[in-house]
Amino acid sequence: MRILLTGVAGFLGSHLAERLLREGHQVVGVDNFASGQRQNVAYLSGFPGFSFVEADAAKPLAVEGPLDWVMHFASPASPPRYLKLPIETLLVNAEGTRHLLELAQAKGARFFLASTSEVYGDPLVHPQPESYWGNVNPIGPRSIYDESKRYAEALTLAYHRSRGIPVRIIRIFNTYGPRMDPLDGRVVTNFITQALKGEPLTIYGEGRQTRSFQYVDDLIEGIRRLMEVDYPEPVNLGNPEEYTMLELAQLVLELTGSRSTLVHVPLPQDDPKQRRPDITLAQRLLGWQPRVPVREGLARTIAYFREVLGSPALG
Ligand code: NAD
Ligand code: UDP
Repeated sequence: MRILLTGVAGFLGSHLAERLLREGHQVVGVDNFASGQRQNVAYLSGFPGFSFVEADAAKPLAVEGPLDWVMHFASPASPPRYLKLPIETLLVNAEGTRHLLELAQAKGARFFLASTSEVYGDPLVHPQPESYWGNVNPIGPRSIYDESKRYAEALTLAYHRSRGIPVRIIRIFNTYGPRMDPLDGRVVTNFITQALKGEPLTIYGEGRQTRSFQYVDDLIEGIRRLMEVDYPEPVNLGNPEEYTMLELAQLVLELTGSRSTLVHVPLPQDDPKQRRPDITLAQRLLGWQPRVPVREGLARTIAYFREVLGSPALG
């Protein structure tokens, strides 16, 4: 297959591209490095099936040749990063999704949208099934991300329903692993880098809010399975293993052997209090479920960060 993949320099895009390339497919990667890493593109360039276009995915792309899939993963994804790029985040998820759906139609390709568990906002239903409509503040600071992803889902299904384009939509729950940018500001990267440097781990608020953490390989397997199944509506992909941020901090301290302390800093506005995927649909539809327990996935991620940060084993 020949696949256009936006966000290829990012954490998830680079893993997905690698998987597709290893299977022998061709990947045309697109990125503007708004939050991605050039070293990911350099790494992927070692595969003969890879080509790269540096471009803003919010704008129309001229792509030569046939395409089997258009996969849209470009968007800043960590809260500090999308809060710094509010208009760009809205545009890549709104205008970008529209242009890429048009491209898919023009090429007779299928379209794949990376959406997010943030469409559930600060959820009042727990765990969250796909049928839950969510609890999103439409004008709060996080709305640039949440609402643009909700719009992207609506647009994707509108193109499917009115123009018959085959589509897939995934709602990704907090995913972590090697190749995350140590500076991206998400909780897993913050805690690991802080622990390895012996700095205090920053707990936002009381640290009793929860998240459920999925190892990247599990997500990529779910994506590949969904590409093989004809199902246009959103599918949750996440690991239901749920932790408070205090529990996660303790686990990172244990696995790194760090003697860092914890420091409480103010909780960002509208920070969801709880999040855990109901994965019944993915289990039934794809025969999929996460295989990598959080403890094991974190250990692999810590090993990666030790290498990247040049940090010796602690403890
Ligand atoms: P990331 O920041 O590592 O990667 C995103 C990539 O998109 C970066 O390389 C960035 O430079 C690129 N990008 C951003 N705006 C662009 C634009 N206008 N034009 C071209 N490229 C652009 O984030 P990630 O974790 O890899 O997330 C990838 C996708 O998955 C995003 O759409 C995100 O919303 C979604 N997602 C991720 C998670 C997660 O836990 N990692 C959870 C939910 C949803
Ligand atoms: N968080 C934290 N310390 C940090 C970074 C984040 O306690 O250094 C909290 C944050 O308030 C949120 C959770 O960790 O409750 C997950 O944050 P992240 O930015 O990783 O992703 P989110 O799920 O909020 O998009």
